[in-house]
Amino acid sequence: MFRTSDGRSFDIYRESVHDGVFMAAGPDKDFIVAEPSLGFCGEEVVSDGKTRILAPLSHANADRLRALFPWTAPSRVLDRDKTMGVGDRLGIAADGHIRVFKKYSEITPVFAQQSIRELTLTNRTFSDVIDAATFAVFRNGFTTGWGADGDHVKTAKEVAYALESGCTMITLDCSEQIDNTVDGLSKAQVDARYVKNAGLEALYLNKSFDVGEGVTISFDEELFRRTVLIYCKAIDHAVDIFFNTVCRDGVQLADFEVSIDETMTPTLPAQHFFVANELARRKVRISTVAPRFCGEFQKGIDYIGDLEQFAAEMKIHAAISRHFGYKISIHSGSDKFSIFPSAGKETRGRFHLKTAGTNWLEAMKLVAMKDPALYREVHKYALSAFKAATAYYHVTTDLNRIPCIDNLTDDQLPGLFGNNDSRQLIHITYGLILSEKNADGSFRFRDRLYRLWRENREEYAQLLFNHIGHHAEAILQK
Ligand code: ZN
Repeated sequence: MFRTSDGRSFDIYRESVHDGVFMAAGPDKDFIVAEPSLGFCGEEVVSDGKTRILAPLSHANADRLRALFPWTAPSRVLDRDKTMGVGDRLGIAADGHIRVFKKYSEITPVFAQQSIRELTLTNRTFSDVIDAATFAVFRNGFTTGWGADGDHVKTAKEVAYALESGCTMITLDCSEQIDNTVDGLSKAQVDARYVKNAGLEALYLNKSFDVGEGVTISFDEELFRRTVLIYCKAIDHAVDIFFNTVCRDGVQLADFEVSIDETMTPTLPAQHFFVANELARRKVRISTVAPRFCGEFQKGIDYIGDLEQFAAEMKIHAAISRHFGYKISIHSGSDKFSIFPSAGKETRGRFHLKTAGTNWLEAMKLVAMKDPALYREVHKYALSAFKAATAYYHVTTDLNRIPCIDNLTDDQLPGLFGNNDSRQLIHITYGLILSEKNADGSFRFRDRLYRLWRENREEYAQLLFNHIGHHAEAILQK
């Protein structure tokens, strides 16, 4: 307990005590407590006859922590064998996540991981996201390193913004440069659109490439032309962003992931090889590539598709990644329990796995457990907002399969989170739920939700520990 001479008392987070600096919990907020000479900004208080600074969790104080304790700053971790991104949309999930990575210490976390879409929907900045992770890392004494991913950034401006904010990883989303129309073209149409590229033809056309492990990649004329039409602009974009933004004066500022997953077109092995080989030939140093796998990776529910086909394709994608020396990155990994064993096996334990929204679902499950009346309100609002939310996310949710909430008892509400349609309903409406306002301008749900999550933070951490822990266990094949 930390007591001030004016009669206030704060619980000290035991794991946070480092060189006389620690974090303490007030009734509704946490504070850093430190000697005045350490440079934190805050209120001067006296405790046990000594002057201390009671410092709020501000950006300036996060910077101070990072300067004093380098392990509270994100670093480049993608060269470690096993890494996992766990986006925290609410800024409250890292306490639970840290428990997972203390237990499964062979996996290194990327605690901060937000896309521009998520930042917009939650009204946060990259700095907010990284600061929340810094404070959680300090609060829990997590000293073994973590990364910060500017996830699904698309333009030079977005990449620069992520880097300036301190991201240590850039996931470049090339989906806008990938031509999704090519898969639907006939051979004659492909030939009509193809512009002769003698340089690439000399390298690939009617050539075979041995990537080892019994995998050979070859390009006949049609596959070659289709691949060029689909991916060449994306490759040019990645080269441009890498050399003009991710690198400054020849120094690489962050780990670099090339994402070609958010497209309609599943990435054929030959196309993955082509993208990787072109990036390597043009000297782009990549840590990870996110191909678009077969089947569906919808938000918040298990994989939809053929598991054997997935395993067979993963084996080839992983062989290609090993040939070039980077890791496969699996996106939308929340709750994809059925593919984790083969992903762990075929990547031979070198992978990057991204999960994001599932911690929001666990937070809402907590609401259903603790405040059924509030949950009912949010649920009904989500039903009314669902259609608007589908503009941002591709899901196959059937609202008719969600039981009518008025027919459920309070005890049955948490069971809604075992229903895929219900999960997706809550999953994709998060931005609207958090930003919905009353007529007087106050938030309709946001403040009540955050209060509940703070009051029940121990239980929230435990829920996440269990749920994300299952992900870790499955991909580690334990
Ligand atoms: Zn993705």
